[in-house]
Amino acid sequence: MQDFFNVQDIKDEYDIVILGAGPSGLTAGMYASRDKQDVLILEKQFPGGFVAITEWVENYPGFADGIMGADLSEKFFAHAKKYGSLIRSGNAIKIEEDGKYKLVYVENREKPIKCKAIIVGFGCEPKKLEVPGENKFYGRGVSFCATCDGSFYKDREVAVVGGGESAIEEGVYLTKFASKVHVIHRRDKLRASKLATERAENNEKMEFIYDSVVESVNGDTKVECLTVKNVKTGETSALKVDGLFVFIGQTANTELVKDLVETDEWGFIVADESTKTTMPGIYVAGDVRTKEYSQITTAVSDGTVAAKSCEKYINDNFS
Ligand SMILES: Cc1cc2nc3c(=O)[nH]c(=O)nc-3n(C[C@H](O)[C@H](O)[C@H](O)COP(=O)(O)OP(=O)(O)OC[C@H]3O[C@@H](n4cnc5c(N)ncnc54)[C@H](O)[C@@H]3O)c2cc1C
Repeated sequence: MQDFFNVQDIKDEYDIVILGAGPSGLTAGMYASRDKQDVLILEKQFPGGFVAITEWVENYPGFADGIMGADLSEKFFAHAKKYGSLIRSGNAIKIEEDGKYKLVYVENREKPIKCKAIIVGFGCEPKKLEVPGENKFYGRGVSFCATCDGSFYKDREVAVVGGGESAIEEGVYLTKFASKVHVIHRRDKLRASKLATERAENNEKMEFIYDSVVESVNGDTKVECLTVKNVKTGETSALKVDGLFVFIGQTANTELVKDLVETDEWGFIVADESTKTTMPGIYVAGDVRTKEYSQITTAVSDGTVAAKSCEKYINDNFS
């Protein structure tokens, strides 16, 4: 991902500015630049979005043997770049209208970037437990990324909170390092697919604590134990662990656009099948859009549609 941090070559004007270099944004960039649009993709962290920090992807078509998330991200990045998308480090902080055009303000850049259309591919942020100790021990035992932090827990015990696909798959991944992975789930059975559930249940390093929630994260300078409450009996108990991994879903981070486009009651951006939002010239793709299933395949599908819809919008309004 060469040149990602070289922000000197960003121009003041583009046809399309794409916000976020996750699967949706990189796919939109690949399609739009292949169709000869002048495209800038801005990414505030690192290209690849959630995929870049997913250890192993088994359900992306064409990779029947699975692929490392980091490798898939590299492929998305290279493909968008090949057709001419400029992919650069930048945190979009404000969007304004300027007649038919849009202005994108970027942190640490004085002049806004002018464009004909925007594709929002922000993705989501991991949901927090919102319990005492969670913020205090973030980075000192509390994590939202098994790929990033799993190796710190070699031969130690950790807990995973959540019962969905991500929680269970990431929990199984953590057994590569940890001596024991306790899965704490508030219901009496997992929500993950049958395949993932079977794999987890057959892993002797995994233990399941059902009908339970974490009430607090405790320790002195790092995580030492969790207070776990059984929601059926009301009983609390202490669970000694060195790490806590939270996978309880995502929350939409749409502060930047919430006054410009319609969002639903959870903050996700409302769009029709064409990915058009309620503001002309702003399109939305990926997890940040209202949708039933948030997956890499659905994100790249949105990215495709957003790029094509943008192109039509630009042809109709700027030629
Ligand atoms: C732990 C975990 C494991 C998963 N495993 C799988 C799997 O195996 N298979 C599968 O299909 N799906 C999986 N998913 C879901 C999949 O990763 C997402 O559906 C997909 O990444 C969504 O792509 P996206 O482009 O919408 O958003 P993201 O991947 O979240 O990317 C959004 C990008 O936008 C950037 N951004 C946000 N705000 C700004 C801003 N203001 N300015 C600039 N950039 C910004 C972010 O930094 C991020 O890089 C997993 C998710 C998680 C959390």
